[in-house]
Amino acid sequence: MERIYRVVQDGETFYVVERGGELRRASGDPFTSLSAGAPVRGGLAGVTLLAPVRPSKIVCVGLNYTDHAAEVGKALPAEPLLFIKPSTAVIGPGEPIRLPPGVGRVDHEAELGIVIGRRAHRVSAANAWDYILGLTCVNDVTARDLQKKESQFTRCKGFDTFAPIGPCIATGLGREPRGVEGWVNGQRRQASSTKHLIFPIEYLVEFITFVMTLEPGDIISTGTPQGIGPITAGDSVTIKVEGVGELTNPVMDET
Ligand code: MG
Repeated sequence: MERIYRVVQDGETFYVVERGGELRRASGDPFTSLSAGAPVRGGLAGVTLLAPVRPSKIVCVGLNYTDHAAEVGKALPAEPLLFIKPSTAVIGPGEPIRLPPGVGRVDHEAELGIVIGRRAHRVSAANAWDYILGLTCVNDVTARDLQKKESQFTRCKGFDTFAPIGPCIATGLGREPRGVEGWVNGQRRQASSTKHLIFPIEYLVEFITFVMTLEPGDIISTGTPQGIGPITAGDSVTIKVEGVGELTNPVMDET
């Protein structure tokens, strides 16, 4: 297992590979080849973390946990319910989620993100893991009041800064279930496991790539469990995925 970070140090952007607790500066990129070099000066404290990928699109799954469907009073979908967050919504660890004026309630949604490693079109569930580079944490930030007014999700999910991703891509983790949690100001608000996903990872890859080609770096965000709730300026939101890491972002009003 290794973790891949994308970082800035002294104005230079590069990847870092963490293996066996050791952090090394890497050349290349994780979608072609990545080779580890010298240790990172100052470790993770000496760099600024960026979102680990720059996706062309983030394909999200709505209502993929039974308990979350119940809390929002929706019937379980017969097929995955898909929507897309734009690439312009992506921010990295530590970057502020900016609340636009007048949008009303905005919620956190803790989700497991799948990072696509190579171009994927009409991939069967049996071959899904051949196309997955690794896993990450996603916060599917949602303007809930707007969502309730509309049948489409593009506006409520698509604001700039509404897609925090990170802190890394965790590779080689395998298929076992893992915990997904959402925390606000040090309090746990969401806690579940990917074993409760209605549509599992492999099926999502098949279902989505039947529709659209996924490019290297694209993200599938697998849906959020019960416990969604509002965030307001001054909050700190953390998404934790077991075996991957923690993604923390402050919340501020847009100015
Ligand atoms: Mg969601």
